[in-house]
Amino acid sequence: MTSNGRPTAVDDAGKAARPRKTAARRAQSRALVLPETMTVQYLAEVLNQNPIDVIKQLMRNGIMASMNQVVDYQVATLVSTALGVRTSMAEAPTAAKGPAAKVAGTEDESELVTRPPVVTILGHVDHGKTSLLDSIKNSKVAEGEVGGITQHIGAYQVESNGHPITFIDTPGHAAFTAIRARGARVTDIAVLVVAADDGIMPQTLEAINHAKAAKVPIVVAINKMDLPGADPEKVKRQLSEQELLVEDWGGDVISVDVSAKTGDGIDNLLENLLLVAEIAELKANPNKPAEGTVIEAKLDRKRGPSATVLVQDGTLKVGDFIVAGAAFGRVKAMTNDQGKTVHGVTPGSPAEVLGFGSLPEAGDQFKVTADEKEARSLAGNSAKAHGTQPGQTRALRLEDVVNQVDTDDVKELNLVVKADVQGSVEAVRGALERLVDEDAKVRILHTGSGAVTESDILLASASEAIVISFSIGAEPSAERLADRMGVEIRHYDIIYQLIDDVEKALHGMLDPVYTEVIVGRAEVREIFEGRRGTQIAGCRVSEGRMVRNADVRVVRDGTVVEDSTITSLRHFREEVNEMNAGTECGIVLQGFNDFQEGDILEIHRQERGRR
Ligand code: GDP
Repeated sequence: MTSNGRPTAVDDAGKAARPRKTAARRAQSRALVLPETMTVQYLAEVLNQNPIDVIKQLMRNGIMASMNQVVDYQVATLVSTALGVRTSMAEAPTAAKGPAAKVAGTEDESELVTRPPVVTILGHVDHGKTSLLDSIKNSKVAEGEVGGITQHIGAYQVESNGHPITFIDTPGHAAFTAIRARGARVTDIAVLVVAADDGIMPQTLEAINHAKAAKVPIVVAINKMDLPGADPEKVKRQLSEQELLVEDWGGDVISVDVSAKTGDGIDNLLENLLLVAEIAELKANPNKPAEGTVIEAKLDRKRGPSATVLVQDGTLKVGDFIVAGAAFGRVKAMTNDQGKTVHGVTPGSPAEVLGFGSLPEAGDQFKVTADEKEARSLAGNSAKAHGTQPGQTRALRLEDVVNQVDTDDVKELNLVVKADVQGSVEAVRGALERLVDEDAKVRILHTGSGAVTESDILLASASEAIVISFSIGAEPSAERLADRMGVEIRHYDIIYQLIDDVEKALHGMLDPVYTEVIVGRAEVREIFEGRRGTQIAGCRVSEGRMVRNADVRVVRDGTVVEDSTITSLRHFREEVNEMNAGTECGIVLQGFNDFQEGDILEIHRQERGRR
């Protein structure tokens, strides 16, 4: 074990192994000591592998898991063995879950302390989310708290009966799910604001589904109670139709009447949030290097990059080396939501951090490292993993997504279902819900009428779901986001086909759909004789590009006469890798010397496509 309690490679005699061994060398003599459970990211770290490669290895074993998902020792061993690394289980359970995971039970209980809950406010537009956030802030200023809250840093903290509560200052389920889609779990409790004079509206439904998908407890705030048209009973009835039974209705969902305008009910709301937090037993260990999530980041012309972070475990201190995504640095200074300088930030609390060398992104998870070298190297790996597309994640497809392992070992296929009209939504939902299989089930996260939106894609990405659209398309911005985030949208016009595919997917039998994509075409204009009978085709690239070593077919009068490979691609005398449309080049094919003028050379590729 290292001093921070993490397992490390040890040899059979128990001596600490030198870090950064290659997998192959480890295999010869060493066993990697692993805890009972760990995140995929952690496993990648101790295996000294890129997390993407570990995820791929998991997929090969039929397990779909993202970086922050927790896998057990057996699964970790499967991956390790495939990489030539022997494993053994740590004797005592070791804390090795990500920052979002509950740490209780995985490390010395005596080190754990209760941390403040982190709350996000969700609800329909104009129902008073911003007003409620302001009202909560102001109620504390009015009470004469020292200094008051003066800064907007993206999150703030208030106290109720001496207990702090942290609020994320950006309300709405879009931001909530966008952060979740980056793999971070920030929110402990969602406050669902419903205007008492308006009732449940479309975005209220979305918010409910987003919170449920995140498995975050919901506290309802029935707002605008000061208005004469307030009808809280109607709101409660509507909630019951969404399977949110409030306490008056015999359920266990807490509902509080409030007015963001007059401040009535705010104290009651805060007390109830603490109650829910207490039930959730939110604990963390402040005596270790900090981990958490970036909530907001901005470039200040005078001060450089500044980021608001939420510490989720450990304590963040001035002077710490820190890495978040592709950004790293050393904490120069920290300020809290009241603009006051702080030197240490404990779990559940936010602070604005100065000292990053570049801007991290909202949703990036940060951690403190031992030194600058480690921070730089982790940032470098992250930049490589992200490529040029921040926020891009692996593709989830219907044919393999069902393999994800749920906690109770029942496989779940998460779906977001959109259809042209509400009637079709109900028909599709009804048919899908009837599909049952012994070890796999459909979980419908959200349904709605109308085109697929960006919010649907974010939800799907955050919850590893597939978007099913029936008799309706997707908004162009949603298509683009789906491409970027690797979310599959499957379009159907025939309900039987939709049900059939989902049923097959549940049984793990759905074959991927492949479509052919043309990479480039070139026309043979002239034929030259090369050495030893080799023919060189003088070509003009008519579309796309020609690529050396690519598979190519020779098409003559619409018929394929040969399948071959480009062994030589020349521009004048020079051997090149690629030639683009509009250029001329000389092409030699493997074992083919029978060109005719007018032949078309076609490079194609099979792509896993969308229906
Ligand atoms: P958001 O879109 O959910 O953030 O809603 P806002 O906080 O911007 O509020 C929308 C409108 O409702 C604004 O005109 C607010 O002044 C008003 N509003 C918010 N809360 C209350 C309330 O408790 N009572 C009354 N009468 N008006 C409110």
